[in-house]
Amino acid sequence: MKKNTIGNISIAIHGGAGTILRSNMSDTLEREYTNALKEAIDKAHSILVEGGSSVNAVEVAVKSLEDNPLFNAGKGAVFSHNGENEMDACIMEGEFLKAGAVAGVRNIKNPISLARLVMAESPHVFLANEGAIEFAKTKKVAFEPNDYFFVKSRYDQYIIAKENDEIMLDHTSTTAVSKNNNKFGTVGAVALDLDGNLAAATSTGGMTNKRFGRIGDSPIVGAGTYANNNTCAISCTGHGELFIRAVVAHDISCLMEYKNLTLKEACDLVVHSKLIKIGGEGGLIAIDAMGNVEMPFNSEGMYRAMKKNNDVPFIGIYKM
Ligand code: ASP
Repeated sequence: MKKNTIGNISIAIHGGAGTILRSNMSDTLEREYTNALKEAIDKAHSILVEGGSSVNAVEVAVKSLEDNPLFNAGKGAVFSHNGENEMDACIMEGEFLKAGAVAGVRNIKNPISLARLVMAESPHVFLANEGAIEFAKTKKVAFEPNDYFFVKSRYDQYIIAKENDEIMLDHTSTTAVSKNNNKFGTVGAVALDLDGNLAAATSTGGMTNKRFGRIGDSPIVGAGTYANNNTCAISCTGHGELFIRAVVAHDISCLMEYKNLTLKEACDLVVHSKLIKIGGEGGLIAIDAMGNVEMPFNSEGMYRAMKKNNDVPFIGIYKM
């Protein structure tokens, strides 16, 4: 794989994949999503234009989505079985394969920034639960009270899930949930900077009514998040258990590295064939070292956006 010698920059983001149907969306809500995606991509793009790093760009994009209650991350994180918001996040850079991740963290305003601190300022890669919170207290990390994370629609979704004894993807259309039209999701970003470095970041509240310290694919390096300058940067969204079993992000990288597949061929094989064979619903965003972007999904829709160089940004929600 060649390096970025032609000064390409690229950024792609997602806000979750799932049963997202035009028929269930109001114009106002659609506008709110589009604006949120546009704001996140613009913030990240301006960092890349100024020569900033892909790691900075993906962190800023994800933070912007975490701060928006429309998405299942940070402020809008779903509720676990115990009524708490337990969040997972991961960030990875493709030059030295450095990564940082946190799982099951509570009251952290921006879990992605905590993941970055794990990467940059700890000797470890992955911190969970109380330990991760203890680590956060030793750093300048913003904490928020429970109220900050309370989003009425997510709480209603949690009560329904609990009553039906279901564990739900935030945007899964079960009969009960689709009545409430609650279709939001995990967030992620991938970027290529002017130095030819790739980075990926993913942040989530996981699944509504999850129990027993359940951790999804998002914070797991190689499953929901991966970056390698030799191949690609990937951030996934979908049913985490299946994405873990398929080691989705790393599989795409391996298909490129060992089988010489293009980004598109590798993404299509994993999302539209390998994942489907095991019942894995969802999608991902991917960038290669030349700035090519792919955003495949095998669900009804995926909140997504991309911008390459100075092109007009693409923003999409439904199947094309
Ligand atoms: N992949 C996430 C998880 O399983 C959920 C999502 O993408 O919305 O935790």
